[in-house]
Amino acid sequence: MKHVKLETPSPAREMARIKTLRVGVALLISSLVLLVYQAVTLRTSLTEDANMIAEMVADNTAAPLMFDDKPAAGEVLHSLSKVPYVETVAVFKSNGALFARYAKPGLTERERGEATLEHARMHAGPWSLTDVIVESEVQVKGKAIGEVVLVATTDAVVAQLLHYGAFLSAASLVAIWVAFAVTSRMGARVAQAEKELEYLASTDPLTGLPNRRAFYDELDRRLHRPSYVGTRLALVLVDLDDFKTVNDTLGHGAGDELLTRVATALRQAVRSTDVVSRIGGDEFAVLVEINEDKSEGHLAAMRIARALARPFNLQRSSIVASASVGVSVFPDDAREVAALVSSADMALYAAKGRGKNTAVEFHPNMTVEARRRARLESELRKAIEMDALDLVYQPQFDCKTGALVGAEALVRWEHPADGTVSPAEFIPIAEDSDLIVALGQWVLSRACRDAAHWNEVSATRIHVAVNVSARQLRQSEFDHQVKAVLSESGLDSQLLELELTESQLMANMDAGIDSMNRLRASGVRLSLDDFGTGYSSLSYLQSFPVNSLKIDRSFVHPLPDAGQPIVTAIISMAHSFGIAVVAEGVEHAAQLAWLAESGCDIVQGFLTGRPMPFEQLMKLLGDDATKPRVLSDAGMSPKTLAE
Ligand code: C2E
Ligand code: CA
Ligand code: CA
Repeated sequence: MKHVKLETPSPAREMARIKTLRVGVALLISSLVLLVYQAVTLRTSLTEDANMIAEMVADNTAAPLMFDDKPAAGEVLHSLSKVPYVETVAVFKSNGALFARYAKPGLTERERGEATLEHARMHAGPWSLTDVIVESEVQVKGKAIGEVVLVATTDAVVAQLLHYGAFLSAASLVAIWVAFAVTSRMGARVAQAEKELEYLASTDPLTGLPNRRAFYDELDRRLHRPSYVGTRLALVLVDLDDFKTVNDTLGHGAGDELLTRVATALRQAVRSTDVVSRIGGDEFAVLVEINEDKSEGHLAAMRIARALARPFNLQRSSIVASASVGVSVFPDDAREVAALVSSADMALYAAKGRGKNTAVEFHPNMTVEARRRARLESELRKAIEMDALDLVYQPQFDCKTGALVGAEALVRWEHPADGTVSPAEFIPIAEDSDLIVALGQWVLSRACRDAAHWNEVSATRIHVAVNVSARQLRQSEFDHQVKAVLSESGLDSQLLELELTESQLMANMDAGIDSMNRLRASGVRLSLDDFGTGYSSLSYLQSFPVNSLKIDRSFVHPLPDAGQPIVTAIISMAHSFGIAVVAEGVEHAAQLAWLAESGCDIVQGFLTGRPMPFEQLMKLLGDDATKPRVLSDAGMSPKTLAE
């Protein structure tokens, strides 16, 4: 499988370059400042020295000037040949005429120039870059008799500055090189760390597959890549069936192992150019490139479903896995990432609804259904808040005595615009969100209140059966909530029966069992609903503290002509565990007769009573108390009970 990598340009080297440039500019500026400072310092000290010498010359030529002794003056001046920077020294008389003069050998005519005092002065300036020219008056007893003009060369200063500059440049170059080396090495490390972080951020650590984010980035990239124009892509969403059960029953180690094995199986089921990703706990996504027909997408989805529907041999156990698969195709079903994903999601939802181990392709109708679901969800939320739901009760009868023994509470929703919405439609919607908790709580308290009420008027004790969803059971407070509702309503805990399905119990092994045991201890009865449709494993009955099981109506339906062996087996097995048997969906007298004959304890169905409003049930109670009847009696239509 090609691992999806996000293309991020490494800015490390660029950063190093920029940083080095900054260091270079800073060094250049400081070097220039230092050089200027050095130049000023050197020139100032040269000027001071030159002034001192000029003063000394002025002192020593005062006498020769006074006595017009030129050789003596010449000697004084000549002694300056030992001072290297003195270029020329001239002594002028007070009238400006040249008296004596010394010039360093080897000067050009222009350099030796200053023949007159004015000429000499013209060159003098405090910041003349070339030579330093100083003057000193020759005085005798405070009276000026002449002028000394000394020209000192700055050659030495310039040479020194050049040296200094060369040193600074060399030092700066070394500094820049070090700075570059350090920053680029640091940059490389940062880039490496960034790469690792990027890998971690885009990879699922368990399976090594690209994670959700990386997958959607890749999907986005592929949908918008110009070279993909004309190609089709199938987005396949995979959801493992009952993964939670594996985790709960075999432990998280086995769960992780299964996920890893599934990841490998998925990779083997597709080409290396296709992308496999783990996008959630037990959810995977596969991006399959297809060549021609849209139907190839469905084929790919089926291939993927088949690849997972097989036993996986884990270290300590073997698991038969299966998955629900939904697929949508670009560009046929959608052209944008979000729409493509939601199409595949809708197809997956449909696959889950159709039972396990199926692959379903997206159909535009699904959008309509999904919109309806979304609308119903928000309207159901309001209906719960506004107390707009209702309960009906379906009576349950003792098979032998025909006596009314209980009633199952079934929720009803009279939608203002859509009319009656079936719980078969809105309960799954509520179960997909947190709504089921509020709904279940509402049903529970209303049912307990109603049951408390009817037990006040009834001569016999009549229980109420309430359906409980997995999410409710998973609430840590569930048993407390039930007890609170019981004490609030005043209903005897033994008159409350909670109906749970096998799959709910399986999915809540850890959390559920404790909660159920506590409920059982407080007298609440538990019933296993829809028995036979789930795991149908009678051995689980031993682990769960249930009082009764309800044979699903799909088993009752073929009776009495077919299907008797399985129902007989269920009844005898349940009885051997001390569990009562309720048959639901009883529609025909012949079914009822067979069930009563076969030892079934309780019946519930359209034959003996349809779900009815509370008032009607109250009426039935009154009748039942005065006229006990035996349901299996020939000639007596049990239907009359509900009418
Ligand atoms: P269920 O718990 O299996 O409830 C029995 C369903 O079978 C009811 O459908 C009932 O009207 C129907 N039924 C009863 N007798 C017969 C019969 O003789 N023949 C046939 N064909 N059907 C019969 P209903 O009321 O539409 O409820 C459907 C499902 O909705 C229920 O199945 C239950 O799973 C769920 N449900 C209903 N009320 C609640 C509730 O308050 N909470 C929860 N969590 N789920 C509920
Ligand atoms: Ca039920
Ligand atoms: Ca049922």
